[in-house]
Amino acid sequence: MTLRLHNTLTRTLQDFHPLAPGRVTLYSCGPTVWSYAHIGNFRTFLFVDLLRRWLTARGHEVYHIMNLTDVDDRIIKEAGKQGTSIDELVAPFIVAFHEDREYLRIVPAHEYPRATDFVEAMVRLVEGLLGTGVAYRGEDGSVYFAIDRFPAYGRLSQLDRRELKTGASGRVSTDEYDKENARDFVLWKAAKPEDEAVSAAWDAPFGRGRPGWHLECSAMALELIGRRFGVKVLDIHTGGVDLIFPHHEDEIAQSCAYTGEGDFAKLWMHGAFLRVSGAKMSKRFGNITTARDLKEDGIDPGAIRLLVYQTHYRQELDLTHDALTAAGEGARRLGEFGRRLAAVAGTTDDAGFAAAAEQLERGFILAMNDDLNSPRAVAELFDFVSTGNRLLDQGAHPGKRAREAWRFADAVLDATTVPAVREVKLLGTITPTGAGTTDLVTDGLDEPGETPPEHPALQTAWAEAWTRKRLSAKGKRDFAEADRIRALLASHGWEVRDRKDGVAEVFRKPSQ
Ligand SMILES: [Zn+2]
Repeated sequence: MTLRLHNTLTRTLQDFHPLAPGRVTLYSCGPTVWSYAHIGNFRTFLFVDLLRRWLTARGHEVYHIMNLTDVDDRIIKEAGKQGTSIDELVAPFIVAFHEDREYLRIVPAHEYPRATDFVEAMVRLVEGLLGTGVAYRGEDGSVYFAIDRFPAYGRLSQLDRRELKTGASGRVSTDEYDKENARDFVLWKAAKPEDEAVSAAWDAPFGRGRPGWHLECSAMALELIGRRFGVKVLDIHTGGVDLIFPHHEDEIAQSCAYTGEGDFAKLWMHGAFLRVSGAKMSKRFGNITTARDLKEDGIDPGAIRLLVYQTHYRQELDLTHDALTAAGEGARRLGEFGRRLAAVAGTTDDAGFAAAAEQLERGFILAMNDDLNSPRAVAELFDFVSTGNRLLDQGAHPGKRAREAWRFADAVLDATTVPAVREVKLLGTITPTGAGTTDLVTDGLDEPGETPPEHPALQTAWAEAWTRKRLSAKGKRDFAEADRIRALLASHGWEVRDRKDGVAEVFRKPSQ
């Protein structure tokens, strides 16, 4: 059973074979961190999460890079308006991005390079392109890429079939999209007073300035895979469909002209749009636009994942109130079955469970190997839940097979509602290996203060008391308070973990 994935380069499904066996380099265009990321961005990131988890499930070692664009036209303009530096403007939104990512259970990338940390690599790339003659300095002091000197330009977006005017209108110096014209695009923008005012200018041999948006991804991807593996070609590059032209077309031109390779990435995968429909999505906000709107509305992340994965990543998705409600019920049903399955002990499967487990495994793998057909994979999982519930009602016994099949599918989709935390368990110190915890019994404090008491025994009671307060905040869907308490505990060396079986564990983190 080979994994087949859709390649935008060829518009066909292709068998996936990584360039180096067992290892996959994956680059994903990440968020521009000038505001909270839109739920549409997160749909793309959830598609990447599915891809990442599936590659891992099939035994590949994935090296995943997702960039954070922390300098571009919009960021500079906004920082100027607020009278701050680009660095200060983006800082809270980087934190927010990771909070949203964690909320949606998205596995973190191995690298989150920030464009401003890779300016040296960008300067090297521009110098290389000037050296080969595909780049030139304009009279405005900026450096441009001459698309007519790169014959493969337009391959990804199939420019020749799209009747775009190639090179007809000179060149373009903004980071913003221009879908109507294929023009020479800017690699390096000469510094203007408004760039200097927000600390968005760097020295370079070809003049002080700042990188263009397209350049950032090429330079960071090449730098990181070069450092790590000494290679110049990515296995997979992902992004939203809106990035195919000109952003990805420009990334290919810059990268291939620089490395001399025929490809920048072997496989280009693009996620379709998400549309938010209906003004009644949320009573509190009028409408949902960002991931944190959903969080603040108390929407279960399992429901969002289920909703997203019930549509194939290359199909547009309508986010509606009804669809979200239905997905919420589905995720709860999955969560309840998971708990029911785990509650029955035993290692040997009855015949019914063995057959159902085999069916789930086979169906799930077939579906996911077919260009990540998650709607079909989800259907297989619900078939298993229906059969499993019926078997459990009849008193049949699930064993190791059934639980493993369930865990295998659950680890990929991660779309179950985690049961509400009902119990707090206070545990001892986590050893560096994570093992050997000790139960500590304390009386607890009713009204813990903001700082822990001095006596060690009271400190554990303090942590437990705050964890209980966090639990009741979560029960009231006051997630802001729950997050604040988690941060308060963390700042005093305690870590809270919500287990899937409804227990919140509190750990004393090992001191450095
Ligand atoms: Zn990019």
